[in-house]
Amino acid sequence: ERVILQVKNLKRYFNVGKNQMLKAVDDVSFSIYRGETFGLVGESGCGKSTLGRTIIRLYSATGGTVLFDGADVSGKMSAAQSHELSRRMQMIFQDPYASLNPRMKVMDIIAEGIDAHHLAKSAQERAQMVVDLLEVVGLQEEHANRFPHEFSGGQRQRIGIARALAVNPDFIIADEPISALDVSIQAQVINLLKKLQEERKLTYLFIAHDLSMVKYISDRVGVMYLGSMTELAESKELFDNPLHPYTQALLSAIPLPDPDLEQSRKRVPLQGNISSPINLPECCHFCSRCPKATEQCRKVTPKMAEVRPGHFVACHLIKPGQE
Ligand code: SF4
Ligand code: MG
Repeated sequence: ERVILQVKNLKRYFNVGKNQMLKAVDDVSFSIYRGETFGLVGESGCGKSTLGRTIIRLYSATGGTVLFDGADVSGKMSAAQSHELSRRMQMIFQDPYASLNPRMKVMDIIAEGIDAHHLAKSAQERAQMVVDLLEVVGLQEEHANRFPHEFSGGQRQRIGIARALAVNPDFIIADEPISALDVSIQAQVINLLKKLQEERKLTYLFIAHDLSMVKYISDRVGVMYLGSMTELAESKELFDNPLHPYTQALLSAIPLPDPDLEQSRKRVPLQGNISSPINLPECCHFCSRCPKATEQCRKVTPKMAEVRPGHFVACHLIKPGQE
C-alpha cells in the first residue's frame, strides 16, 4: 500500500467566544505516501500546525477522518491501538526550548518513550539505547547526564529528534523544526532529518512557512490558506507551475538568486486584508485578497480538483485541462 496517511474532510473548530467559531482546519483532504516528505506551507495562522496536531491526536477532530495504514485513528480507539499509534507517529516541535522538560536529564527525556513502550529489557540496555540515539543525532555520550538548559538551540532540537526516534516510529510530523534556530545551523538539522529518513525509511509531514526550505526537502507540497488546502502537487511541479492565485503570490515573493531572472519576472503582490477566520462564511477563503475574485468566489467554497496528474487546485477559475 503506497498511502500511509489519508486525511479525509478533516475539520478542527475552536469555540473562541459566544457564537464565535474559529475554523482552524476546515474540510481538508489529502494523502501522504510511504517514505516521502510532504511539505505543508502557508502563512502563520493558516491552520497548518493545528492540522498536524489533529492528525497526531493532540487535538480531537471536529469532523472527518484520518486513516493511518488503513485504520481510522481520528475517533475513539482501544487503549492498545492508541498506545501503538503513539509509538509509530511522533512529533518534532518548533520550539526546542519549550518542548524539553527543563527538570529532566537528557537521558530521561530521550528514554521516556523507551520506558512507556517497554523497549529496553534492562537499565543497562536503556542507557545504551540513549547513547546510541545521541550518536545518531550528532551528540555524545556525556550529554546524557546534562539538563536541556546546558545546550544550544540546535543541540536541543537534536535531543528532540532523538526523543522522537527512540520508539522507532515510521511517521514523523515536524512542525517548523528549524524556524527557531540560527540560520547557520538550520541546514545541519535539515540534513540530519534527510539522512535519518533514508536510513530509517521514515515518512515526514514537514510543516513550514519558509518556501525555499520546503522546496529543498519535500517530494510533494500542500499549500494552506485560512484553514483550507488550496493547492497540492509534486514539489517541482508546484514551484515551476503554480496555478492557484495564492500560491502564485507566495512564490513571487521569494527573491530569486539570479538578478536577470529577478528583473524579468512578474510579481503578484498580495492585496487586501486576510479575511477574519472567525465565523468565516461559505466562500473562497482567499477571495478578500484575490485579484481574480468573482461573485461566485464570495459565495461558494471551491473544492480541490485534479487539474493535471497529481496536481490539485481549489479555485473556481481553474478546471481540468483549461489552465
Ligand atoms: Fe481567486 Fe476565486 Fe480562485 Fe478563490 S476561487 S482563488 S477568489 S479566483
Ligand atoms: Mg505553527
